[in-house]
Amino acid sequence: MSKIDILSLGFKELETALREMGEKPFRAGQIFKWLHCGDRVKSFEEMTDISKELRGRLEDSFEIVYPKAVRKLVSKKDGTRKILFELSDNNHVETVIMDYRHGKSICVSTQVGCKMGCTFCASTIAGFKRNLSPSEILTQIYSAENECGVHIDSVVLMGIGEPLDNYDNVVKFLGILSHPKGRNMSLRHVSLSTCGIVPRIKELAELRSGLTLSVSLHNTTNEGRSAIMPVNRRYDINELLDACREYTKATGRRISFEYAVIDGVNDSREDAKRLAKLLDGMICHVNIIPVNPVKERDYHSKKGSAAAFAKQLESLGINATVRRTLGSDIDAACGQLRREYEI
Ligand code: SAH
Repeated sequence: MSKIDILSLGFKELETALREMGEKPFRAGQIFKWLHCGDRVKSFEEMTDISKELRGRLEDSFEIVYPKAVRKLVSKKDGTRKILFELSDNNHVETVIMDYRHGKSICVSTQVGCKMGCTFCASTIAGFKRNLSPSEILTQIYSAENECGVHIDSVVLMGIGEPLDNYDNVVKFLGILSHPKGRNMSLRHVSLSTCGIVPRIKELAELRSGLTLSVSLHNTTNEGRSAIMPVNRRYDINELLDACREYTKATGRRISFEYAVIDGVNDSREDAKRLAKLLDGMICHVNIIPVNPVKERDYHSKKGSAAAFAKQLESLGINATVRRTLGSDIDAACGQLRREYEI
């Protein structure tokens, strides 16, 4: 019988599992703390306030699995660190640690590959392999803290994969990360980025979790957006923006829109005007990003065009900033390191 991945269990599930083993529920608090607080043990052996007998039985039923860091890159420009993790089935995912003035932020992956097919994104080129489990998302944070000796202050789900296409595991991960008896990270310090899976945005709104929702918009017409983001053929811009309004209404949180400026594709004055019109009256912010060139694609962003686009939006009354490009010397764009490693 295969062992249970204990880091993927929420607190209540751990309590239930222990009860089924004939143990008292308070054991869950002890074990959860060993797994998610302080130095975080990697074996049951290290849980010294638990009897040897129970440690043995835990060992028989559960496993504590961490990924292996197989490559680490550090940007000479800004200290951004990128780690390539090898999972237990030899798949790889990327994690990026960024230094901001307000603290350290980590960008984690939620899937191996991606099926969304956005034409500008390296993560989707080789297709989709599988979803990450809650623990495989969580241990990117824990391992990065251990590997780099840092404390992570905020988390963005913006690495490889579409988080809302792995909804159940992502929600479970969020529950474990924010549990008061564990890592206890407020979900106000977590952002989830989606290409726009509308029904899942609505479900997420119902959770009223305090999470910041980032929406990858990248275009202002349905024709243009469908050409670079196939998901738009399923859920178009109007449906998407309606879901965003619902999200803000349910949670009180403003939406953050991502807009990667691509030469000749979405950076005209008309685009800025259309975008301002689409977002008129919404509680939101637009992050303008110069498109990160991906080897397999011919997309570029002229120097200064992101700033110019942001300025146009500002003049039209839309809150917009240019996202600082971090780690440009270590290919920090999604999926690029994994592709290099696996080719
Ligand atoms: N699937 C999710 C999260 C992963 S991608 C999403 O689509 O939001 C994280 C962000 O990086 C998204 O906004 C995505 O559109 C953007 N992105 C992907 N490739 C990019 C590139 N080459 N240049 C700039 N931004 C890119």
